[in-house]
Amino acid sequence: MIRVENVNYSYGYTDEEGKPHESVALKNVSFHIKKGEFVGVLGSNGSGKSTLSRLLNALIFPNEGRVLVNGMDTRESESWFDIRSTCGLVFQNPDNQIIASTVWEDVAEGPQNLGVPRDEMIVRIKDSLKKVSMEKFSEGEYRDTSPLFLSGGQKQRLAIAGVLAMNPECIIFDEPTSMLDPKGRKEVLSTIRELNHKYNITIIYITHFPEEVLDADKILVFNKGNLISEGEPKGIFSDEEMLKNCGLRQPFEYELKGFLEKEGVELP
Ligand code: ADP
Ligand code: MG
Repeated sequence: MIRVENVNYSYGYTDEEGKPHESVALKNVSFHIKKGEFVGVLGSNGSGKSTLSRLLNALIFPNEGRVLVNGMDTRESESWFDIRSTCGLVFQNPDNQIIASTVWEDVAEGPQNLGVPRDEMIVRIKDSLKKVSMEKFSEGEYRDTSPLFLSGGQKQRLAIAGVLAMNPECIIFDEPTSMLDPKGRKEVLSTIRELNHKYNITIIYITHFPEEVLDADKILVFNKGNLISEGEPKGIFSDEEMLKNCGLRQPFEYELKGFLEKEGVELP
């Protein structure tokens, strides 16, 4: 459903003295993602992950190469509406994503902008809040709850409900748990897994915590704008050297396994 072909991307900017500079964010990146896959995107700070998420959502465009979403080239402006409703985007900071003063209105924002008829909108809002286990907020007085009273995990799930109300096929999560406490992190992760398993929504999950993507279908590892490695979690996480070179840790169980094997312990 998503094809990235030989993509290069650089940011142009000028410094205080007005001198132009170029910061290369992605270098000759190619991969594809199938419908229904859960893809983990790993990389340390500055490796190009957020740039990638904006390219997939047609917010920015490749300098070279192309990005196709369901066959639509992101550079063609007549496809932007379709691309952005096919691929939703959830960011790091839940507070920056809340736009309305009540939970109900916040989820309504997206479908309202899409011009969804009122009756269908009500169904979509209820359904979306249910999918993130916040159905309580679609009934009676709870509909008027201010998002300010929600926990971090609830705010992030509200942001997800807002994206779901636009009926996306795919959701890109850009480090969605990095500002949450352990409880909120767990809630959000299990919600995202359920969206994939139960509703077959394609998930692109960006993180620098390998533990969060242990059970992904596929992992992409980025370092300094290069796609370094691509494959199933088992192969990726067994490669201690590669992860270290990319500034990443092995997940604990892989680290332990490596340690025990070095000590001559045979593992099943
Ligand atoms: P990540 O999300 O993996 O931390 P980014 O995609 O944000 O990485 O950044 C990749 C590279 O692009 C970094 O070197 C960063 O400094 C640079 N970059 C990101 N945004 C901008 C910008 N608006 N202007 C100039 N350089 C940028
Ligand atoms: Mg980022």
